[in-house]
Formats: sequence, structure tokens, C-alpha cells
Amino acid sequence: MELIIKNLSKTYPNGVKALNNLSLNIPRGMFGLLGPNGAGKSSLMRTIATLQEADEGSISLGEIDVLKKKDEVRKLLGYLPQDFGTYPNMSAEDLLDHIAVLKGVSNRKERKEVVKALLEQTNLYDVRKKNLGGYSGGMRQRFGIAQALLGNPKLIIVDEPTAGLDPAERNRFLNLLSEIGENVIIILSTHIVDDVKELCTNMAIINKGTLLLEGDPLKAIEKIKTSIWKKFISKNELDEYQKTYKVISSKLISGRMQINIYSEPDPGNGFQPTDAGLEEVYFLAINEGIV
Ligand code: ADP
Repeated sequence: MELIIKNLSKTYPNGVKALNNLSLNIPRGMFGLLGPNGAGKSSLMRTIATLQEADEGSISLGEIDVLKKKDEVRKLLGYLPQDFGTYPNMSAEDLLDHIAVLKGVSNRKERKEVVKALLEQTNLYDVRKKNLGGYSGGMRQRFGIAQALLGNPKLIIVDEPTAGLDPAERNRFLNLLSEIGENVIIILSTHIVDDVKELCTNMAIINKGTLLLEGDPLKAIEKIKTSIWKKFISKNELDEYQKTYKVISSKLISGRMQINIYSEPDPGNGFQPTDAGLEEVYFLAINEGIV
């Protein structure tokens, strides 16, 4: 099953064009949707999740017309929205049980088994009786995945799931996502380049509602691999370098400033070749329209 998005556009009543003739093919496996804040990621996720209408375009999930057959999509969908509100005074176990009823698991014994398996999978079994209000950010996000997985979804959407998690919680969460399986479509929407780099076999970069790049992250890196150069400069030279070169990043390393630039030919002037990563791909796509 594949998710195919064709020429999708959406303008909000305030005139903001959040999606601009966007087309994307999303295969099975983990798909990273990268873009800065305001790029249109949530608008796209909500439209796929049948929570809002598009002005133009089509979306199909296998044989299903997503924009028309909303009920059919919802049966196959697991969704972890950006602002996932929970019921603070309910335990994880009770709320999962409740959601399982809503998703149609009517047999009590079956529900108990499903809920137990999900609590174990998301490493929340030991805290299953604790109220959700007392959960850490990471625990809440793992609970979010547990509820999204109820009913064996074929399409799982997670919108900005690692924002606000500490590094250990983030790792635990991303590992959990990567274990979900290869037979489902998982869309991970994020502005954090590392989330995509570590997990996704396919990705897209969008900005201002427009698709800038689609494909395999490693291939995108390969394409610019020989065009990234580094040099140590003094801090007050940065402005000058920014005028002359396509400066991708600048960082202080033990008091000295290292800049990375993009240049297809050898820029000379003391620059050394350096490794390219997804950060460089992202920067060049967003700021320079290169890649
Ligand atoms: P992202 O998820 O990438 O941060 P969004 O899809 O949330 O991007 O937003 C895309 C653009 O649409 C932004 O400029 C945002 O301010 C605007 N926007 C989002 N939702 C609404 C809405 N309900 N009404 C008006 N403008 C909106």
C-alpha cells in the first residue's frame, strides 16, 4: 500500500497558503517529512488524517480516496497529533482500554490482552496504573504511540513527536517508532533533521507549502558530498565570508570559528573538503534551492 498525494493545495481563510500544489508518493516504511516551523507539515498531516479539507488535489491510500472515504481511512489510521492532550486524572491502562472500546475492540478479554501488549511495547507497563498527569514528556509521547497503535493501523502519522523530549527520552521514542514494523506507512513530521537522518529510508523537505526535495536521505547526501568545504576563521571575518560564499553553518570550536560552505569547484583560499550530512542537504534545500 502506498499513500499518493497529488497537487494538494490549501489556503486558510486568513489568506495563508499552507499547501501549494504539493505532490508526494509515500511508500511503506518510515517516511520523514522535514520542514521549518510554518512549512505546512501539520496542515498536510491533518489533511491526510481526515481532520481538515483541502481546496484542491487528491490523496489515495491504496485503493481508498482519502478525501472522500474518511471513515475507511480512519479505520486504518493511527495518529499522534502535535498537541496531544490526555486526561490527566486517568491511568494509561484505563484510557487505552477506553480508546480500544471506541476503536471497536468490544471483547473484554481481547481488549485486556491488546492493552497489556501495547503497554509492554511502549515500556509503560510498570506505570500503567499511574495517572497520565504525572507522566514525563517522554512517557506521554510513548503513551501517544500506544493509543495510535490500537487497532493495528496501516498508516501511522506522528507530528513533531520529539519536540521537548530530553535526549534519552528522544532515543527511546525513536527506537520505539523504528520497531513498529516495515509493513505500515509511518510518517514522521519534524523540524529536527537528526530525527530523519537516524530512521527514515525516504523523506521529503517542504517549505512554504511547496515540495523542495523528495527521496532517499543518503542519496541526497551523496549528491552534495564533494561540495562542502570547511575553514577556521576569526569571528569578525564571518560577515565578509557570508558575502562571498554560500555559508551553510558557523560554529565555535574551542574559541575558534569553523564555517562550512557549499561550492562545487574547489574554493581554494584555505578551505578543506569536509563531510556532508543531512543538515547540509536541508540547509541548501531551504535557503538556496540547491539539491
Ligand atoms: P508546520 O506544521 O510546518 O509548522 P502548519 O501547517 O502548522 O506548519 O502551518 C502552515 C502555515 O499555515 C503557517 O503560516 C501557519 O501560521 C498557517 N496556519 C496553520 N493553521 C492555520 C489555521 N487554522 N488558520 C490560519 N492559518 C493557519
